[in-house]
Amino acid sequence: MATTYQQCPRKWKYQYILGERVGSTMSTMIGSYAHKVLEYLYKEEASDRTLDTAREIATYFWPGQESDPDFVAHELTEDQIKEFKHTVWRNIDGLFRMENPQSVEVVATEQEFNVKIKGTPFRGFVDRIDALNEERTDIRIVDYKTGKPGDKRYWSKKLKQVRLYAAMVQEELKLTPKRISLLFPAHEVAIEEDANKRSVNMIVTELSGVWNSIHSSMETDKFPPSVGPLCAWCDFVGECPEGQVEVESRFHEGNVRQDAPGLAILGLS
Ligand code: SF4
Repeated sequence: MATTYQQCPRKWKYQYILGERVGSTMSTMIGSYAHKVLEYLYKEEASDRTLDTAREIATYFWPGQESDPDFVAHELTEDQIKEFKHTVWRNIDGLFRMENPQSVEVVATEQEFNVKIKGTPFRGFVDRIDALNEERTDIRIVDYKTGKPGDKRYWSKKLKQVRLYAAMVQEELKLTPKRISLLFPAHEVAIEEDANKRSVNMIVTELSGVWNSIHSSMETDKFPPSVGPLCAWCDFVGECPEGQVEVESRFHEGNVRQDAPGLAILGLS
């Protein structure tokens, strides 16, 4: 929520004030399905966390997935459905290559947090919390990503959300996270760091500042557009005049990736 405002206050308004619905994209659906399989896999007894169990869980949830209205709306061909399943499975299978699920001491999976830290409300779902010692006092916060890890130069920035999760877990469970991990199973990449009090505090301070800016935007009803390359990936570009100008100009300069959804929204692909 706060990161959307940081990216573009106008986008935040479309999404959270006007409540405009963002249809599920293929990548969000792949993400939710893979997360669900992993959630249930790690709820199993350690000895049952096998690839066969993961396959059974994926099969169990498939009827719900294929009848989901958002999924149906994409009118996928058989080959596209195969590709969807293949991508989900690459994430499950990839995780088994990154770690042995049977040796993970799970404290919680998909746990919701709704906490106030220094007066600022934060909410989120933590994919997994692992115990690192027998006493279960040392913990690791794990977040899965089904997208690409991207350029190494931005990896530290990508950990921001997990640092915030660490702050939320610390506040709510009174446990001190020792390690935070962002896992990209399909690519077998782990972006990790030791949980560090300073970086965790810094993200709380940064996002508290964003929260204050959101308040002042709401009081003044000023949500300025923040145009840039991400406009081509914004679900609301069809309604945002400044964003349209930006995407059209980048398109004519050949500066937009062909698979950017904004091109289809504006009829440019
Ligand atoms: S199109 Fe660009 S400027 Fe407009 S809301 Fe989206 S991100 Fe913001």
